[in-house]
Amino acid sequence: MISRDCIVIGAGFSGLQCARRLHDAGLRVTVLEARDRIGGRTHVTELAGRTVDIGGQWIGAAHSELSNLAHQAGANVLPQFADGAKLLHLDSGDRDRLKRYRGIIPNANPLALLELQRAIQKLSRAQRSLTLDAPWEADQASAWDHQTLESWMRRHLRTRSGREIFDIAIRSVMTAEPGMLSFLGFLFYCASNQNFEVLTSVTGGAQAATVDGGMVQLAEWLAQPLVAAGELALQSPACAVKRAGNDWIVAAATGAEFRAPRVVCALPPALQDRIAFEPALPANRVQLANRMPMGSVIKTVVAYDTPFWRGAGLSGEAVSHSLAFNTVFDASPPTGEFGALVGFIDGAPARRWSAAAPDQRRAAVLGSLVRYFGDAARHPIGYVEHDWITDPWSRGCYVGLLTPGVLTELGPALRSPCDGIHWAGTETATEFCGYIEGALRAGQRAANEVIGDSGERSTT
Ligand code: FAD
Repeated sequence: MISRDCIVIGAGFSGLQCARRLHDAGLRVTVLEARDRIGGRTHVTELAGRTVDIGGQWIGAAHSELSNLAHQAGANVLPQFADGAKLLHLDSGDRDRLKRYRGIIPNANPLALLELQRAIQKLSRAQRSLTLDAPWEADQASAWDHQTLESWMRRHLRTRSGREIFDIAIRSVMTAEPGMLSFLGFLFYCASNQNFEVLTSVTGGAQAATVDGGMVQLAEWLAQPLVAAGELALQSPACAVKRAGNDWIVAAATGAEFRAPRVVCALPPALQDRIAFEPALPANRVQLANRMPMGSVIKTVVAYDTPFWRGAGLSGEAVSHSLAFNTVFDASPPTGEFGALVGFIDGAPARRWSAAAPDQRRAAVLGSLVRYFGDAARHPIGYVEHDWITDPWSRGCYVGLLTPGVLTELGPALRSPCDGIHWAGTETATEFCGYIEGALRAGQRAANEVIGDSGERSTT
């Protein structure tokens, strides 16, 4: 049995940040990670001889902790390419249309444009009444939490193209359909990430920059001292956490056991049920985990000889309501050795395409790219994808979703420690929830809780 001051479960950005902070504060800490790699929802793969992100990728303009980490790690941060026009594909009404646009709101008919602008203003007014650490206390919290984003949209967006454009944005930001999201939960998500416009923007927004060579380098930098101290155990899923006097015993599926007075669970709530807690966790924490399913997303990066779309005045950014590859960005390497487009199959279509054969999925992705960028998109030189829905240690992405009633009925259970068990992970973040930035901040907060507790214990 290995004794430590704290065991951290999960070596994503949140668990690593927490463990690193505890380690740097002089606490003895071990991290258990289920996968054979660190980084969790960030992950890289090889495409045309280069390392590319197939999970979390962008640094938002306001993501200060992540930017700082990139700086400390000596990473080369590249602004997201955004020169040129964007594309909107809609097939509402009688015909299939592809429109070029610039700015945040795509060109639409004047009525749709007006109601989209009004809807965004209403969201921004409503989010102002929330406090990030207790959105369930807002005056209208209960009414907002017991309606879906879909029902709100039905009231405020009456034109078909207005609703489709809004749908596209929701699907790409939340990887879920508006019908399963609490309106309060969505407002909180917007507020946590500044606002709806920031969430959907590139320059100055949530998709501002990338890390040359992949985001995982930053996780590796965070993990360095833990690896050097032999305190990071890969392929070690925690399967049980049991009370033993003043300590907890954490059992890994490898058979190893670890003893500590504090445990930090740095995983999405949807993975909590893979660990048997004894005694059982409080009812609200159990229910919270049951009611926060993950979003649905398949991420794909496609390489071409050249970024040919740039020559046509296009930025590579494209969105669609009906094409399989519904959100696309330029991901060409700065060296110009080839062109690349990165994108997503999000929401309900992701679940449908997850069940299809890989060659059918590839054909659907390439078909979408041909519709956006023309025939030149038909012949890539490389193609990689990752289905996050069937990934057993994520069960979906980007984030655990706030379904109706969760925040007002169970919200405090997100972060309330349970007798020495603390909660990290981006889902527990008040600021930048859902993003790597939120994961880092939640890891810091959990570490501060543990350090505070340890300090109290040592003085008593
Ligand atoms: P995770 O990364 O999920 O870490 C949890 C860890 O716990 C995992 O490593 C998991 O294997 C491990 N684990 C689970 N159960 C156990 C167990 N029982 N025992 C031991 N270990 C366990 N964010 C951005 O900021 N920018 C983006 O551009 C962006 N794009 C994204 C695109 C995709 C396709 C995806 C999937 C995510 C994206 N995100 C993005 C979200 C971002 O990746 C996550 O918010 C962040 O990585 C979450 O970190 P975390 O540490 O909270 O959780």
